[in-house]
Amino acid sequence: MRNVFNFNAGPAMLPQAVLKKAQAELLDWNGMGMSVMEIGHRSAVFQELAQQTEADLRELMAIPANYQILFLAGGASTQFAMVPLNLLGERKQADYIDTGIWSKKAIAEAKRYGNINVAAEAKYRDQIAFIPKEDQWKMNAAAAYLHYTPNETISGLAFHWVPEVGEVPLVADMTSLILSCPIDVTRYGVIYAGTQKNLGQAGMNIVIIRKDLIKEPQPFTPTLYRYDIQAEHHSFYNTPPTYCWYLMGLVLEWMKQQGGVEAMYAINHRKANKIYAVIDHYAGFYVSRIDPDCRSLTNIMFYLHDEALTSVFLEGAKEVGLYHLSGHKVSGGIRASMYNAMPEEGADQLAAFMTEFARRYG
Ligand code: PMP
Repeated sequence: MRNVFNFNAGPAMLPQAVLKKAQAELLDWNGMGMSVMEIGHRSAVFQELAQQTEADLRELMAIPANYQILFLAGGASTQFAMVPLNLLGERKQADYIDTGIWSKKAIAEAKRYGNINVAAEAKYRDQIAFIPKEDQWKMNAAAAYLHYTPNETISGLAFHWVPEVGEVPLVADMTSLILSCPIDVTRYGVIYAGTQKNLGQAGMNIVIIRKDLIKEPQPFTPTLYRYDIQAEHHSFYNTPPTYCWYLMGLVLEWMKQQGGVEAMYAINHRKANKIYAVIDHYAGFYVSRIDPDCRSLTNIMFYLHDEALTSVFLEGAKEVGLYHLSGHKVSGGIRASMYNAMPEEGADQLAAFMTEFARRYG
């Protein structure tokens, strides 16, 4: 039995039931006397596993039939290149919204392949970050798509609305958001995500793409980076990361048992509110640099007014089993990442620790 809560941003905590099932099946999967890792990816049993995983994801996210789902090797960063390579087309122009480090990385990669317009950036009011609304965006009418990052994992800056961008296909990096809240897939041209947060372990990324957007990529696109080839081969052009696929299947099965996305969202909402409530109650001692309208549901970022207390906080938290609460190396501070696998009890314990800490040192 684990008695720690892991607040890491990703690879992140996994549901204990999933780990136990994986452990129980490690040496003998499906009564075959061997591990799923040892099964051929083209075998009928593995194909069945892959189809079930896709069906579960479709059901959980209500993904319509006119969307293809790709299961690809590599991380979310793989899409920083695949999106422009496959979507820029002859126009070779696209709009990007820059709300933080992951947006910036996507922009830098896309600039290698086309003319990229940064239509809007995160803004600051008294050192508090917020996202300007669409009426202030400077979009390029010739853009092949608009890319944004609905949840910036490092800073915890998030959209709580879907941008209105007219006919231009909306492309979203949902790595730290997917399956944590309801998402209307039909509003998007492409949704992509790395798997190491709400979809299992690191090593894979998924792409949910409207089928009419799968077209001729830039001519120099590597074969494995082509949406059309991957779609044609149902993500089996080459050997996929089979264990990632298996583990995602277990995570999705677990999610369905928990009541699906709506149920997870209700819990995630409560978990986040519990932590933000302590930050707000002890405002001045804890400092949030995110506008309340743009606070992340999954990555809660804050600072201690007295920076010297940050290491004391982290050490104290660790002593009571609250792990990996330090902010990303570029931002410092404290970051509590709470994806679906974080039980509500983890948020309760963190909130209690924060309250006690503020009373003691505030
Ligand atoms: N986008 C976002 C929003 C992320 O949080 C991350 C990783 N934390 C990435 C992209 C990059 O993912 P990967 O390391 O899997 O390439």
